[in-house]
Amino acid sequence: MNHYAEGCEVPPHSRMDFRLLAKAVRKEFGIPEADAFPVVQFLEFALPQLYDDFEYQVVEESIMGENHGMTYPDQHRILIREDVYEGAIADKGRDRFTVAHEISHQLVHEGIPLTMARRDAGKLELYRNSEWQADCMAGELLMPYSEIKMMSPRGIVDAYRVSLTAAETQLKAALGRRRCA
Ligand SMILES: [Zn+2]
Repeated sequence: MNHYAEGCEVPPHSRMDFRLLAKAVRKEFGIPEADAFPVVQFLEFALPQLYDDFEYQVVEESIMGENHGMTYPDQHRILIREDVYEGAIADKGRDRFTVAHEISHQLVHEGIPLTMARRDAGKLELYRNSEWQADCMAGELLMPYSEIKMMSPRGIVDAYRVSLTAAETQLKAALGRRRCA
């Protein structure tokens, strides 16, 4: 049983794949591992460098409804709900995680038409599930393993501007007490 029934099947990746990718992304864009990941700036300035036609849109809550964000990795397009975008700018941990999750879909699922895919992944292994993968990559991007492994959850919250829940989940995953995040 897992909590990713909304996901769809994508090529398999492990947490270690995402840890290495997150490290490479920070290096490529000169973001030190000790720094909080600048999610909004990454959306605005880094993704357009990776994909010429990349665009993101901030969409009214009345249109997005329950969706906090939506990514079309095959179209290089990310939609972020207005209140979530503003929350991310205001350093709210939960909203920063949402933006990192959508960025991760674009980085990890480049070229895959996620919105067209079958959304019945409850029985899939986590490592083949698009939603687990995006959460996993978001966690690695926001909270670098080499830095957090010796930190307390509260220390991680302060340093990386994430929610306490995200910090605790990442710490457990980093220390290997749980297989999934
Ligand atoms: Zn997602």
